[in-house]
Order: sequence, then C-alpha cells, then structure tokens
Amino acid sequence: MPEPLPAPLGLFGGTFDPVHFGHLRLAEEAIGQLTLAGVRWLPAGLPTHRGEPQVGPEQRLAMVRLATADNARFMVDAAEVEAAGPSYTVPTLERLRRQLGERQPLVLLLGADAFVGLESWHRWRAVFDLAHIAVSHRPGFPVTAAALPPPLAAELAARSADVAALGAAPAGAIVTFAMTQLAISATDIRERLAAGRSIRYLLPDKVLDYIQTHSLYRNA
Ligand code: ATP
Repeated sequence: MPEPLPAPLGLFGGTFDPVHFGHLRLAEEAIGQLTLAGVRWLPAGLPTHRGEPQVGPEQRLAMVRLATADNARFMVDAAEVEAAGPSYTVPTLERLRRQLGERQPLVLLLGADAFVGLESWHRWRAVFDLAHIAVSHRPGFPVTAAALPPPLAAELAARSADVAALGAAPAGAIVTFAMTQLAISATDIRERLAAGRSIRYLLPDKVLDYIQTHSLYRNA
C-alpha cells in the first residue's frame, strides 16, 4: 500500500489592506470544511492585481500577525513581503512546493471574486500543477460557468471535485465551499476610516488598535 499523503495545507494570499473578519472566517471555515492541517497566510509584497496599497508591506504583515497570533493552526509566511519585487502567486507556489515536497497536498484558498479573475494571473494554468484551489462563496460573486470567462469555466468543469480530492493528490482539483457570508471588504474599511466612521467589529480589536496607534488610512 502506498503511504497516505500528509493532510492538506491551506495557502491564503491577499493584500490584507487591512486584514478583517471576512479573511479570518474564510481561513477558519476552510480548516473545518476542507480538513486542512492549517493555513499559511501569505501577505503580498507589492500586489500586481490592483493599485498601490495605502499601507506598506511591513505594516500589512504586522496586522496579519496580530490577527492570527492566537490561532495555532494559522502560520504567517513573510517571504513575499521580504522580497523586493512584485508578488506573483505561481512563483510563490513553486517555492512552497520546493520547501514542502512533492507529496504535500496544497490548497490555494480564494474568495469567489479572486477566483473569477484567475485567468489574468501570470502563468495561471501552472497553478493546477502546483496546488488545488478551494473557492469560498463571497456575497455578490457567483461561481457559475456563466459568471466565468470561458477558459476558466472549462477548467472548473474539468477539475470540479469534492473535498476528498484534496487529500487524494498533491494538486489539480477545484472545490467550492460555502462560508458564513460576510460582506466585509478592505475597500469598505478604508473608506470608513477615511471618512472618520467606525470600523469596530469588522476586524479584530488588536488590528483596530494598530491602525489607530499608527494613524493608518486617514486620507484615502
Ligand atoms: P480589497 O477590498 O482591498 O480588494 P479584500 O477585502 O477583497 O480587499 P484581499 O486582501 O484582496 O481583501 O483578499 C484576500 C482574499 O480574501 C481574496 O481571495 C478575497 O476573495 C478573500 N476575501 C476577502 N474578503 C472576503 C469576504 N468578506 N468573504 C470571503 N472572501 C473574502
């Protein structure tokens, strides 16, 4: 009998500008529903998919560390922040593959809005050789063939699987999972802060304290 594979590991990239409860619930519910060993958070250095974040990589990383510190199943990977250049997901996955070995099932966690844009990523098809993808539902972003560009809809149709597939191979499946729907976004949080409105209960108190101490997001 071949050795069973190690339990799948979740990988969660984002700008986290700032990290909020939508991110934390996604990671927490992914562990439970997808039976992951844990989630490795990957804050982006210079993101390539959007405008320049208002807050530098070190401060976004610090907020992710504060938000995740008390969860033993969460790990923070600072490599993208420490790298000088822009962050691309495929090279990051290649690095993690080298570090963690060929047999480790890796599960890239994406909100539905991020998945819909996958086709715009640098070398996007290489993702499927390196990791599985688990797409969480997000309010306003349906994951249906009609809502996806045709090449991505074709990959979804060919690779759609149930959760058991994540532990049966190191990479290549796409699963979707339903999470508690939280219409929280970092954009909305930044706008509230710029307008002097409350963001309490949208993100952890420790992150709120950090934002206030460092006077972040004052002039969006
Ligand atoms: P912004 O509003 O600045 O675009 P964001 O809140 O979408 O930010 P990101 O750092 O861009 O946060 O997102 C990281 C990942 O988390 C993405 O895969 C995104 O789809 C997912 N995500 C963010 N917020 C939620 C949410 N409320 N529910 C589900 N997924 C989410």
